[in-house]
Amino acid sequence: MNSKVENYVLSGLRPTGRVHLGNYFGAIRNWVRLQDQYRCFYVVVDWHALTSDYADPSRIRQATFDAVADWLAAGLDPSKCVIFLQSQVREHAELHLLLSMITPLPWLERVPTFKEQQQQLSDRDLNTYGFLGYPLLQTADIAIYRANLVPVGEDQAAHLEISREIVRRFNHFYGDVLVEPQALFTETPKVPGLDGRKMSKSYGNTIGLTASEEEIQTLVMTMFTDPNRIRRKDPGNPAICNLFQFHRLFSDPGTIERVDMECRTAQIGCVDDKKLLASIMIEALEPFRKRREEIDRDPSIVWDVLVAGNRAARERAGETMEAVRSAMQINFPELNR
Ligand code: SF4
Repeated sequence: MNSKVENYVLSGLRPTGRVHLGNYFGAIRNWVRLQDQYRCFYVVVDWHALTSDYADPSRIRQATFDAVADWLAAGLDPSKCVIFLQSQVREHAELHLLLSMITPLPWLERVPTFKEQQQQLSDRDLNTYGFLGYPLLQTADIAIYRANLVPVGEDQAAHLEISREIVRRFNHFYGDVLVEPQALFTETPKVPGLDGRKMSKSYGNTIGLTASEEEIQTLVMTMFTDPNRIRRKDPGNPAICNLFQFHRLFSDPGTIERVDMECRTAQIGCVDDKKLLASIMIEALEPFRKRREEIDRDPSIVWDVLVAGNRAARERAGETMEAVRSAMQINFPELNR
């Protein structure tokens, strides 16, 4: 069976700038794998960025460039997948509006992340219509490509539930037009930050996928290790060492086993282990770094990819919108002249 013909995948990220290792292992590494199996649409969701950053949109443009440049550096291939920018496919806004007609307000108000994020981002006023409608815009992003698969980590399936409900409600009123998306479970290893918390730009604990050798060296030296290992001669415990999580992501099985043993018997000190890990990471990340350097020498690579991707995305979104307008009886062929 040629699954690439039958299955459409949609996934996107906000423009937060350069990709860090949490983004890579949590999403983009899977995107690279999926582009060989399915028809994939990958989108920078800049309108979503505005739902919370509307007061200061000054960073969105550069962050969009950096995100796409790093996606390409990570291995996304525009000949295999569609890479595009949400705001350039205005059909998303039209479908968002039409879906808003049928979406009961309590469905949006009960989305757990709505209240959580309002509390977490208390420095800004998120009591807005746009922020409340964020899951609806997300539903439009998926439904407009008739994507039947949305990659999610195991704990994120609930996020898709509201989209499935809205699509079902639409089809109940207007017929079988939209496709109900299913979760495509993907392996997403836990990536801690330098300090052991989840890796996130908002914590300032990230390592960039395309970081320079010097940056990697400097950042690895700041990584938290086993907090109980005070002196060099104290045996350590890799099971509670933050740095050891990175060995699991980057080192070969023989190295992981050796470091585990040498740490527990105090044969290796944390400083030496940091130097070892930094050299392993520098080598592993070199292809990404080199590709990003090429792109930085010729930024038109990014804009050209987006121009072609926006066009391909518009084409499929346009087909969906024709079917939607017709189903909702707001198409007027007599006026198409
Ligand atoms: S030797 Fe390595 S694994 Fe052991 S505590 Fe130090 S940094 Fe962690």
